[in-house]
Amino acid sequence: MARTHNFSAGPAALPTEVLAQASEEMLDYEGSGMSVMEMSHRSKTFVGIAAQAEQDLRDLFSVSDDYHVLFLQGGATGQFAGIPLNLTEADDTIDFIDTGAWSKKAIKEAGKYCNVNVAASSSATNYDHIPAVADWQLSDNAKLMHVCSNETIGGVQFKDFPEHATLVADMSSDILSRPVNVDRFGLIYAGAQKNIGPAGLTVVMVRKDLCGAARGITPTFLDYAVQANADSMSNTPPTYSWYLAGLVFQWVKANGGLAGMEAKNQAKADLLYNAIDSSNFYSAPVAKADRSAMNVPFTLADDALDGEFLAQAEARGMFNLKGHRSVGGMRASIYNAVPLESVQALVTFMGEFENERG
Ligand SMILES: *Cc1c(COP(=O)(O)O)cnc(C)c1O
Repeated sequence: MARTHNFSAGPAALPTEVLAQASEEMLDYEGSGMSVMEMSHRSKTFVGIAAQAEQDLRDLFSVSDDYHVLFLQGGATGQFAGIPLNLTEADDTIDFIDTGAWSKKAIKEAGKYCNVNVAASSSATNYDHIPAVADWQLSDNAKLMHVCSNETIGGVQFKDFPEHATLVADMSSDILSRPVNVDRFGLIYAGAQKNIGPAGLTVVMVRKDLCGAARGITPTFLDYAVQANADSMSNTPPTYSWYLAGLVFQWVKANGGLAGMEAKNQAKADLLYNAIDSSNFYSAPVAKADRSAMNVPFTLADDALDGEFLAQAEARGMFNLKGHRSVGGMRASIYNAVPLESVQALVTFMGEFENERG
């Protein structure tokens, strides 16, 4: 069985062990004679799978009883609207730090429903750093403060989180990659397809006292109180994605939990950034202190060589390295499921390519 080195930004690599288990359970899940995809979400078997996944996620983050853990649909993009609709009134203000393409989208969507204050932005330098906290123009009366903990496109990551208003974080591309103290947040959300599982599932961890005051126009499937009350089954949930996410949570638990993930991710990121920094041919645009351990954008000294770099990489089994058009060059996404060996293979290839063509 040939698995490629998959550096996709999302939907992204899943642990091979998880896929093997899913494949073994595909035709006959635990003697039920059917796949998880084919059972009622109301069945005892699926309700058990769902509850176990929630418990495993709660265990990983030590989530207290003060929080709902919801398994929803609509992606992180759905939450760009769901958050203001559930947690603000039309005359409330959300303070945003604009650190990249995903912050920008969240700001635009929230602006349809409430006031937005962009307290700081790094757009003038193409999102190559997180603006210094001393320069943030925060509002006195902000209801919420929104950050994107990891900008998937620009490769910028918060290492510490601010303390201001009720903190909300888009963790779509770095959830499960490191320990996080959930108690510091009012709400954490993440689309699944980067670091949790297949697309179609969105995880929301929200403090219970913030729920129950959604605006009347809130779509029912986005209403946190309604979904919490229905164990995230107010309508048919994405059952197979939920099941696969559960297998990933168990895989994370079996591989050292969040601290174990962080150590491995740091080793991978260090290896790749060191290779870039020690060469005269590759460069990484992001300020060192703010570099993402998940998404590593880098450029070649001569962008006329980009196509050749990608073709040679693919010939060696390395895929999805093309950078986002807004940054150019390359981007290696090295989520939890990307093994150290893939990063080693990439670094070896980069060295050879530089020797040959640099
Ligand atoms: C991918 C991504 C999104 C969008 O997720 P969808 O599931 O496509 O809505 C939002 N924020 C971040 C940080 C992302 O990486």
